[in-house]
Amino acid sequence: MGQFGSRREFLQWSGGMVALGGVGATASPLDAAEGPRDDVAMDYYEKLGVTKIINAAGTYTILTASIMPPSVQAAVAKAAKHPVRLLELQQKAGEYLARRLQCEAALVTDGAASALTLGTAACVTRATKDNQPSVVHIPTDMAGLKNEVIVQKAHRYEYDHALRNCGIKFVEVVTMDDYQKAFTEQTVMAHFFNAAEGGQISREDWIRVAHQHNVPCFNDAAADVPPISRLWEYTKMGFDLVTFSGGKGMRGPQNSGLLLGRKDLIQAATDNNNPFSNTVGRGMKVAKEQIVGMVAAIDWFLSQTDEGMEKEFERRANRIARELDGIPTLNCRIFVPPVANHVPHLLIRYDQARIKISPREVAEKLRQGNPSIELNPATGSDSASAGLPTDRNTIVVGVWMLEPGEDAIVARHLREVLTNAV
Ligand SMILES: *Cc1c(COP(=O)(O)O)cnc(C)c1O
Repeated sequence: MGQFGSRREFLQWSGGMVALGGVGATASPLDAAEGPRDDVAMDYYEKLGVTKIINAAGTYTILTASIMPPSVQAAVAKAAKHPVRLLELQQKAGEYLARRLQCEAALVTDGAASALTLGTAACVTRATKDNQPSVVHIPTDMAGLKNEVIVQKAHRYEYDHALRNCGIKFVEVVTMDDYQKAFTEQTVMAHFFNAAEGGQISREDWIRVAHQHNVPCFNDAAADVPPISRLWEYTKMGFDLVTFSGGKGMRGPQNSGLLLGRKDLIQAATDNNNPFSNTVGRGMKVAKEQIVGMVAAIDWFLSQTDEGMEKEFERRANRIARELDGIPTLNCRIFVPPVANHVPHLLIRYDQARIKISPREVAEKLRQGNPSIELNPATGSDSASAGLPTDRNTIVVGVWMLEPGEDAIVARHLREVLTNAV
């Protein structure tokens, strides 16, 4: 019976399937190598009646973030054809990514939010004498576990929940003096939000002081590539853990992310991760397709250049701006947010006394159109949002997630809606 050893063992393994195909049946309908051919692939969006959109917004989670480049899609489809050992895939993908991203160690996570949880879990469970039991105890049985995470008040954000999943408490600081005094016997980690718009303490000072107290520092840079070099900038700067979202600027699978950093901490994060069942990370499974997709996305992203990407995004923005030329009071400019989503965006500003439609109404009209277009959610926003300087007279077009040819479609629809309101 070859690799199964005995017929009895084979029957146990295959269970009820024997009744379907029978032992020794040749071409079984369950043969994993016989996937559907591309030309017969069903369009499940159509089948389900789900509207396909043109993404003129950006890498927003609610809009499914990004489209994987063709090489990544192909790698995912190929990975789907074969089972592997999950731990071996996790380990070898991590080693490959660590080499390419010039850090000690790496783990593919179920998005950046999952990396925040696993990295925090690593710091909490590592700080005890007996690592194994503490993995089991977070987040509900925290007695005897250290659980304080220091953060700048201006760095508190909605992703705090990903850290709180580990049973931690935040200790907020504002000044350098606060920070130096905040370290106690209970401190496990110092957290930094890379794209925070406030905060007095710099990255370098944040790291230096934490390391004086032997406390690891985590930097959440989820939405902060490009530039490509950010992928190694922060680990080289001294951050012990850094996360990036896989499905945003790198255009990997939406449910993929990177946890990069110190070898001992990545190992501790791995101990808190699936496939191990009694862990905080069990519900954050990354399937083989997404692990391979993340690796392929890194290969794709590292084959790009910052200049090449920037030029292409500017070309798209200019193409849309040209189409809107001549509409009264309207002016266009290209703006690059400073940290997160650091790519050219098109800002379109006009006088609503002359063009009688608000940016929010324009966004709604484009959403209702065919094809349905989503503009950047900062459109018509009263206050600056995510580094974008908007106001109630401004339309924001995020061009970087457009697929080839879609810039022309967005331009045409914008022109039509705006000129109809003159
Ligand atoms: C998007 C984002 C996350 C979450 O990333 P996912 O990959 O969607 O889990 C975390 N932190 C910040 C700052 C983000 O922008």
